[in-house]
Amino acid sequence: MAPEMLERAIAAGTAPTMARLVEEGRYVPGAVAAFPSVTPVCAASIVTGRAQDAHRIPAMNWFHRGEHRYIEYGSSFRAVQRFGIARQLIDTVYNMNRAHLAADTPTVFESLDDAGVRTAGTTYLMYRGRHRHEPQRDSALTRVAAALIRHPVMGPRELFYADIFASRATGCRSGLGMPGVRDRHSGCVSAYMVEHDLFDFLLLSLPDNDWYSHKKGPDAQVESIAQADLQLARVAVAAGGLDAFLAEHAVIVMADHSQAPVSETIALQDALAELGVLGPARPARGTRGADAEAEPRIAVCPSQRAAMVYALEESERDAMRASVTAIARGIAGVDLIAWLERDAHERPREGVILSPRAGELRFAPGGGTLDDRGVAWSIAGDLAVLDATIAGGRLRSPSYPDALARVWAALECPTSGEVLLSAAPGYEFLDWGRQAHVGGGSHGSLHACDSLGALIMNGLALPDPEPELWAIRDVAPLIRGHFGLGDPDA
Ligand SMILES: [Zn+2]
Repeated sequence: MAPEMLERAIAAGTAPTMARLVEEGRYVPGAVAAFPSVTPVCAASIVTGRAQDAHRIPAMNWFHRGEHRYIEYGSSFRAVQRFGIARQLIDTVYNMNRAHLAADTPTVFESLDDAGVRTAGTTYLMYRGRHRHEPQRDSALTRVAAALIRHPVMGPRELFYADIFASRATGCRSGLGMPGVRDRHSGCVSAYMVEHDLFDFLLLSLPDNDWYSHKKGPDAQVESIAQADLQLARVAVAAGGLDAFLAEHAVIVMADHSQAPVSETIALQDALAELGVLGPARPARGTRGADAEAEPRIAVCPSQRAAMVYALEESERDAMRASVTAIARGIAGVDLIAWLERDAHERPREGVILSPRAGELRFAPGGGTLDDRGVAWSIAGDLAVLDATIAGGRLRSPSYPDALARVWAALECPTSGEVLLSAAPGYEFLDWGRQAHVGGGSHGSLHACDSLGALIMNGLALPDPEPELWAIRDVAPLIRGHFGLGDPDA
């Protein structure tokens, strides 16, 4: 949800519920997303309050070094077809929460479940909690999906996840979780839970705005935000109106990221083909991948307006990084290239961000310069890489908000690739189904244009002083604090 589009919907009078929440609460027009600013990474940051160096969900598409295969969470239907629909379903429904999301990084559901708070969630990528849920037996799932979705999951106390998991019969249908009807399903089950007093904490997900904006462009969000507002109103009506609802509940309305218009694509798989790219259909190690022109030596993972490249052999990591960087800096639309340099003991030494137009910036945690969020860094090189300035010991980089911490978390994340790429405004990396959102909108980059989402907080005790720049990872601590719980890492 782009702040500007929320503001337009409010001005047009089509988002009256959010208008009141903004009016009576604290509205932050630009809370900064994770990098890559794609849904799996951001959703994990929202529910854990941590970046991917802790939660370990690195992207929409990534390479699993241990299993020597790509993980595809659903970039597009065609991309999913390339990797296998069954694979994607299992990875997204089960493995993302059970295997990929770090076990030792608790979600808000787990923290609140442990404290006896009644938790609830509608369909959301991240649902890990302490309550066991069996898949629906009588659901509208296709026979293929029903054969795959046989195992229970651990979720919040009440869990309504597409037509797959439903902790009770509500009469609400998700239409197989198809775009355009998902918000209505979330609104329907949430209204039911309000009527029956089933939760203390509810994560209510409204994903259709993102889908609509991908398809029709960020300006069209004004329409889908109005639809989302209708569902929030429906939940409030179930409590007897917004006044009654707000007397009982604190409310946070937030975006996981924003979106920017897309007019051009980058075919990174093609551009790096000479290095030997592992294709999605590759059956086993040692055989040639279907998309590879040479023996595969790298994995290429497009995630909308970001991408990662992995060296398949660890011994080739440094050489591959140099080769990939040399090619990538000449690709139109590649805005930033980032990697981690290590010391003789393989410990992270410094991050490097290279801009083909502006040079190179090197940075490491701890030093004399404070960023937008008061974190200290040592910085050397070309500040123009981030359109940044340093004055009075403070780094300002409004074009790339919270840049150093976001890039550092991505580089330190053990499941990330060796090279990270961020696309220039207007560009998107083609996914493995060769799809992009040309003529529509997308997100994923480090740039402010898709990194800053709307955040509204109503009825919560806010930190004093507030962060100068809010981040989506600030929300989980607020929720824990609201229920009297501290930081699980403290
Ligand atoms: Zn999206």
